Amino acid sequence: MKDVCDFCSSTMPMWTVLCSERILAFPVLYSKDWAACNKCVEYIKAKDVNGLIDHIILKDNIPISSGFREKLQWLYGRIFSMIESIKEDSLSTSLSSQGETRTLAPFGNGF
Ligand SMILES: [Zn+2]
Repeated sequence: MKDVCDFCSSTMPMWTVLCSERILAFPVLYSKDWAACNKCVEYIKAKDVNGLIDHIILKDNIPISSGFREKLQWLYGRIFSMIESIKEDSLSTSLSSQGETRTLAPFGNGF
């Protein structure tokens, strides 16, 4: 289990969204599995890209450019189109994602 939601950076994400492929958003190659919190997973299940982006922006009160929003729309659109499974993580510690490179920082420089 990851420490933070890959989408909004909330702590204790309880869900794992597994995609069929890794997504390359140059220069970042994301992993297939995305951690999601209870709030984000609702938008993900509904495939509501803009709802998810609004949630992320409002949560941290981040001013973003329209260009950045388009990048997020593209990325989340890719994720939504490749979802294989969405499962709730058990509270018993899962080490399955240990050792995997943490590549995602939603508002990091690598985007
Ligand atoms: Zn979240």
